[in-house]
Amino acid sequence: MAIEPSDFGQEEERDRLVTPEAVAEDFDSEQNLRPHSLAEYIGQAKAKENLKVYLEAAKMRAEPLDHLLLYGPPGLGKTTLAGIVANEMGVQFRVTSGPAIEKPGDLAALLTNLQEGDVLFIDEIHRLSRQVEEVLYPALEDYALDIMIGKGPSAQSIRISLPRFTLVGATTRAGQLSSPLRDRFGVMLKLEMYSPEEIRQIVCRSAGILEISCNDEGAKVIARSSRGTPRVANRLLKRVRDFAMVRGEDEITGAGALYAMERMEIDESGLDELDRTLLRAVIEMYGGGPVGLDTLAAALGEEAITLEDVSEPYLMQKGLLTRTPRGRCVTHLAYRHLGMPLPQEEQQEAQQTLEELLRETK
Ligand code: ADP
Repeated sequence: MAIEPSDFGQEEERDRLVTPEAVAEDFDSEQNLRPHSLAEYIGQAKAKENLKVYLEAAKMRAEPLDHLLLYGPPGLGKTTLAGIVANEMGVQFRVTSGPAIEKPGDLAALLTNLQEGDVLFIDEIHRLSRQVEEVLYPALEDYALDIMIGKGPSAQSIRISLPRFTLVGATTRAGQLSSPLRDRFGVMLKLEMYSPEEIRQIVCRSAGILEISCNDEGAKVIARSSRGTPRVANRLLKRVRDFAMVRGEDEITGAGALYAMERMEIDESGLDELDRTLLRAVIEMYGGGPVGLDTLAAALGEEAITLEDVSEPYLMQKGLLTRTPRGRCVTHLAYRHLGMPLPQEEQQEAQQTLEELLRETK
C-alpha cells in the first residue's frame, strides 16, 4: 500500500440542546469535566469492572493493553474512558478520528510518532476508508508498517517496525465496522445509557467542578431530562445555571430547574421539539406507522442519520417508538406522551379488552 502525506479533514457538528454529540460550546468545559481515573468514572459498572482486570493484567505483564473497541451512542463517555486507559497505564494519549484520517499517509504519520505503550484513540472508527484500514492491520497485529517504494515492476514493500501501542477505537455503530477490523480488537466494551441516579451523581460532580450550587432536587430534574447521557447532563446543567443566575437565584433548585426545562422546551422525559415533531409526524402523516426512515427524514427536513443516531435510540429506549422490518411505528405510550387520542380501531380494541376484563371479573 503506497503511503502519501495529506491534510486532516474536519467534521461538521449540529446544534441542539439535547444532542448527545459534542457541539462547539462543549469542547472547553468537557476537558475540565472529564474524569481522569476509573475511580472517578461514574456508572458503566460492567465495562469498568472488566477493564480494571485487563488493565491490571497488562500492567503485571508490563505490556500495552490489548486493542480495545468501545461502542455505544454518543456522549456516554467513550473518549473519557480511552483517556482513563492512558492515565491508568501512565502513557501518552493521542486523539484522532476516522474522518480525520483521510489517506494512508495520515495514519502512517500518526503511527510513526507514537512512543512505546501510547494509547491511540480513533473516534468514529467505522468511518475509516478501506485503504486506511489496510495500513492499520499490520500495525495492530505486528506493530509494523508496510511501505511501498518505487513504481511499476521494481516496486517493493519494506516493513518498518512501530512502537508497541494500544489502539482504542470508538464507534456508535459496531455493526458498520468491517469484520477484519473488528476481529483485531482483543477487548470490546459496550457502553450503556446511564440510570437517572448515575446521571444525578454526574450532575453533582460537574456542579462541584464548575462551582455551581445545585441542590439534590435540582440535580434530579436535570438528570431526568438528560436522556441517560452525561454530555447532555453537563450541557443542561450549564443552561439551567444561566436561567437561575438571570432570575437572581444563587442555587439550582427543583423548581428552578423545572422552569428552565420549560423555557428550553425539554419535557420531563428529556424529549425536545424535534423528538415530539418526529412522533407527531408518524402519527399525523402516517397513521402511527410503519414509515420508512428516509421518508420520515425527508418529511421532517432532517438527515436520516441524525434521526437514526440521535433521536431514535432514546425514543426506542423510552418505549415510544419501535423499529419493524417495514419501518418505524409509534407505540401507545407515544400517543399518551403527546396527549393525543389513540386511533379509532385501537381505541375500540382497548374498549373491547376492557369490557372483556370487566365481564370476567363479574
Ligand atoms: P463520547 O466519547 O462517548 O461521545 P465523552 O467521553 O466525550 O463521550 O463524554 C462526554 C462528557 O461526558 C465528558 O466531557 C465527561 O465530562 C462526561 N462523562 C462521560 N462519562 C462520564 C462518567 N462516567 N462520569 C462522569 N462524567 C462523564
